Amino acid sequence: MSHEPEPYRIKVIEPIRKTSPEERRRIIKEAGYNLFAVPSEDVFIDLLTDSGTSAMSDRQWAGLMVGDEAYAGSRNFFNLRDAVGRVMGFPFVIPTHQGRAAEHVLFSTLVKPGQVVPNNMHFDTTKAHVEHRGARAVNLAIDAVYDPVSHNPFKGDMDLDKLEAFLKTKVGPDGTARAEVPMVMVTVTCNSGGGQPVSLANLRGVRQVADRYGVPVFIDAARFAENAFFIKEREPGQQGRSIADIVKEMFSYADGCTMSAKKDALVNMGGFIAMRSEELYRLATVWAVLFEGFITYGGLAGRDLEAMARGLEEVLSEDYLRDRIGQVRYLGQQLLDAGVPIIEPIGGHAVYLDAKRFLPRIPQDRFPAQALTVELYIEGGVRGVEIGTVLEGSDPATGENIYPTLEMVRLAIPRRVYTSRHMDYVADVVKRVHARRDSVRGLKFTYEPPVLRHFTARFEPA
Ligand SMILES: *Cc1c(COP(=O)(O)O)cnc(C)c1O
Repeated sequence: MSHEPEPYRIKVIEPIRKTSPEERRRIIKEAGYNLFAVPSEDVFIDLLTDSGTSAMSDRQWAGLMVGDEAYAGSRNFFNLRDAVGRVMGFPFVIPTHQGRAAEHVLFSTLVKPGQVVPNNMHFDTTKAHVEHRGARAVNLAIDAVYDPVSHNPFKGDMDLDKLEAFLKTKVGPDGTARAEVPMVMVTVTCNSGGGQPVSLANLRGVRQVADRYGVPVFIDAARFAENAFFIKEREPGQQGRSIADIVKEMFSYADGCTMSAKKDALVNMGGFIAMRSEELYRLATVWAVLFEGFITYGGLAGRDLEAMARGLEEVLSEDYLRDRIGQVRYLGQQLLDAGVPIIEPIGGHAVYLDAKRFLPRIPQDRFPAQALTVELYIEGGVRGVEIGTVLEGSDPATGENIYPTLEMVRLAIPRRVYTSRHMDYVADVVKRVHARRDSVRGLKFTYEPPVLRHFTARFEPA
């Protein structure tokens, strides 16, 4: 992929400030060596997440001015419903304040205690919401997704043999697996697997297997457009199609979806559930009213719905997607060229540093990926996020760390926010830390919260 310039002009800017290394040493120490505790104004390049951090377009900002703040039936709701219909092909839409709220409403409607939900790989809030319903979440992605250097073009695919074997054991007296398995979910792109795409052939296969066992299919659609771009680029026979056409086919294999609009709808807040069945829609609206407000606003203002409706169609632009995925790749390739270990192939929304290979001398109980986030901050004011032992948590019974296979630092790239010069800078910062990697020390806890420890834990150098 050649590196074309960004396909937009910048007409609003937000100044960012670069602190000195001395200031950053003081700030990170005060923050207990946890980047979540650093104020964003003290961060120079913020790659903590690609969620809700997108820059909206002039068309989206203009949409805020036509926000109709009606409690029921605002024109913006109908615009959103129509956009979802055109883009995804689902006639029924319930807005929610973000993606996990869509999960909350949908799973309250469909998932019962004792059931099991298979997914290629659950996103963490999706897993938590399945478990909140008293059900179990199982991941059935192909094995390649666990191998940091496998070059499978569709590492996010569901393992269809595993899915079939799984559903076979759940068949009840009615001849379907429906009583035990309320739905099969497919996450596109596979976020927890590094932003790796799922192929059309695989989605079609999931549909066929699920049909044999009478189970509905839902897509966790947060990065549906990025997934479609990979399909166009990599899947045999797809090169001549438009992104819009590929997206339509992806969703044609599903009964509905949950959407975090903070990703591929290019907004700062929002989400929705979309579906084909009017009956399911009616059942879900009950929970939507209870948790999210009236069924045509879902915790959002009319202006937010309008920005979401506009973003959903904007994101289908191939020029935009080529730039977006190209920028992630541009950063990742510079690191690969410099011999920095990263997860390959480079995913759609982030570059993942492989901390086990980056800092092989730091044992996992000294949190090498957390230590690496601290060094990137001290070196250049870059904020990434640990996806390793700290995030994985500890066994509630024994208090011992659970050690994940992959120990990573995720550098998530916000959409349309930074230029390629910012990426050059980030690459330089990572390379400088890599050059002095033997001097990096591990960390130990000074405070370990009992649950979701990564957000509020505090550390000191070991
Ligand atoms: C972000 C995300 C969610 C949850 O959405 P929020 O808007 O953060 O609540 C669910 N699934 C995937 C794949 C995500 O990336």
